[in-house]
Amino acid sequence: MPARYYLRSFGCQMNAHDAERIRALLEAEGLERADAPEAADVLVYNTCTVRKSADDRLAGHLGTAARLKREDPGRVVLVTGCLPQAEQQDFFTRYPFVDGALGPQNLHRLPDLLAAAVEPAGTAPAGFFEDGARFSGDLAARRARPFQAWVQVMSGCTNFCSYCIVPYVRGPERSRALDDVVAEVEGLAAAGVREITLLGQNVNAYGLDLRRGGDGGAPSFAGLLERLDAVRGIDRIRFMTSHPRDLGDDLVAAVAKLPSVCEHVHLPAQAGSDRVLAAMRRGYTACAYLERVRALRDAVPDVSITTDLIAGFPGETEAEFAATLDLVREAAFDAAYTFVFSPRSGTAAAELPDQVTAEVRRERVERLIDLTQQQALASHGAWLGRRAEVLVEGKSRDGRLHRGRTRQNVTVNISGAVEPGAIVAVEITAATSTTLRGTV
Ligand code: SAM
Ligand code: SF4
Repeated sequence: MPARYYLRSFGCQMNAHDAERIRALLEAEGLERADAPEAADVLVYNTCTVRKSADDRLAGHLGTAARLKREDPGRVVLVTGCLPQAEQQDFFTRYPFVDGALGPQNLHRLPDLLAAAVEPAGTAPAGFFEDGARFSGDLAARRARPFQAWVQVMSGCTNFCSYCIVPYVRGPERSRALDDVVAEVEGLAAAGVREITLLGQNVNAYGLDLRRGGDGGAPSFAGLLERLDAVRGIDRIRFMTSHPRDLGDDLVAAVAKLPSVCEHVHLPAQAGSDRVLAAMRRGYTACAYLERVRALRDAVPDVSITTDLIAGFPGETEAEFAATLDLVREAAFDAAYTFVFSPRSGTAAAELPDQVTAEVRRERVERLIDLTQQQALASHGAWLGRRAEVLVEGKSRDGRLHRGRTRQNVTVNISGAVEPGAIVAVEITAATSTTLRGTV
């Protein structure tokens, strides 16, 4: 049996959490972690395919894997996650040196895939493993830090926003049973975890499918937060992602009222023109979106609202793009992720006429970046001279200070003696558009 594995993961937090499960599964098989692909017998790439740029990044890494496989054909190369799920058997035509692959709904099959891949030479490659959806939220995870944990509360997505590949690769939206979530969080608290981040593509829809399936006692997402807020030892609860269409007043009230729920809501707007929002199948107008932003700002002091924006959706005119800039100005975001529209094969938007040229998409995203960076700087600047509650995560990038995050999810570089895992009050002395600086 091989002895050492190298894992490289790409993409969203859900993928990062899947990577923790992959580590736990491989380590349960007796493999030890290697920090470089050259030092490993098993190479695992956990992939993202939400935009073309993700595919391009992976291609470079798989080039290294192909070279290492040529040098030592006994090495095993496995690929997990959204890319092989989207491409299925075509994936092996593109990357013939890959021994086996499986999608995000079949992570539990990883030990079988590995066993098939290390069969004596001469047997066929393991191919693509798929046996239908199973809830991977219940698999154990090898966590990076002892005091922080991700907790998956939902899997999949059934929204089918017209640009998005996620529903095709991660399957239908499903909520994890309340008792399972609560048991996991209680176990984490007992193990010393202080901060949890609840994960789902649309956490606001938590419980809807359970109630439709006959579980009348299943709570809403706000009810779930209330239940988890009562778990002793958990000081901070984060969650992502919220869908603006489903952000009800009960959730706004929960964020305002529950002490451990952090004052941060990631609320992807995507665009500001109602025609574009309808073509994206988002299910809200710009006006409805801004009303939700106001409700949050009115109810929750110091709330941070962050967003995702797409520039250059097919057919987007200059006036429609200007509507996105207007929405951004009005919402006064604390931070934003800005994306160039990327056509994904199989999605409705990829087939639309009037694709915006790459040049115009890039020029528009630059304008979004400028504006949202100014907003982030203003938002961070408002903390100067104030005290922020910071959970210390470890050393700063350059190793000279410590770094941690505020309840609003802003990174702070901290001067003064602090221990990772501690929650401290930090006086903020400097701000940039990406980080704060302060003294404990
Ligand atoms: N479920 C979350 C939601 O609805 O907000 C987001 C999940 S998606 C992995 C993260 C972000 O990627 C989206 O909010 C969107 O801005 C962006 N995205 C998804 N598909 C895209 C595409 N085809 N081109 C550009 N950006 C895309
Ligand atoms: Fe994709 Fe829309 Fe689902 Fe988010 S809600 S994962 S953007 S389809």
